[in-house]
Amino acid sequence: MPLEWLNQEQVAKLISLDMVQYAFGTTLTRLHGGINAKSGQQSILDIPAIIGTKGKNQHFHKQLQNYVPPLNNPTLFKRDQNLCLYCGQVFEFKLLSRDHVTPVSQGGKDVWENVVTSCKRCNNHKANRTPLQANMKLLAIPFAPNYAEYIYLQGKHVIADQMQFLMNYFPQQSPFRNRFMH
Ligand SMILES: [Zn+2]
Repeated sequence: MPLEWLNQEQVAKLISLDMVQYAFGTTLTRLHGGINAKSGQQSILDIPAIIGTKGKNQHFHKQLQNYVPPLNNPTLFKRDQNLCLYCGQVFEFKLLSRDHVTPVSQGGKDVWENVVTSCKRCNNHKANRTPLQANMKLLAIPFAPNYAEYIYLQGKHVIADQMQFLMNYFPQQSPFRNRFMH
């Protein structure tokens, strides 16, 4: 199951420590090491897109099923593709804000299911009202990413192999499935 992103140094270390159970996907990069004194050959190490490490934690899978990722603006905006979910336009980070669909002043909570990306203009206009009260249409239903979706959202350059792997762990109705098709 997907656990976390590693950089190539971390992967190289796990391989050299014989901690890798299996590897698959595209080779991302080939590292060149020292020259072997006997053979005169330079050591090489291929860094695969995905590795499975040795060791097991029986309870891990159960824990991840109920995992709620921490809520922060960079991940929230990425969930919503930097799109204001009211006016439907894409904005740069500094023009975006976290809108509480049901305002905190009306009992709304600061949770994934009650927050959307909104441009500051729409957020100001909506003020302390629900979309219904403000007569504003919400373009998508906010949702909490599961652990695999959260890993996806944290990825900087997710390649096809990795996305295929992660998608095995996305909920069936995950909007991120379609996103990758485009
Ligand atoms: Zn807007």
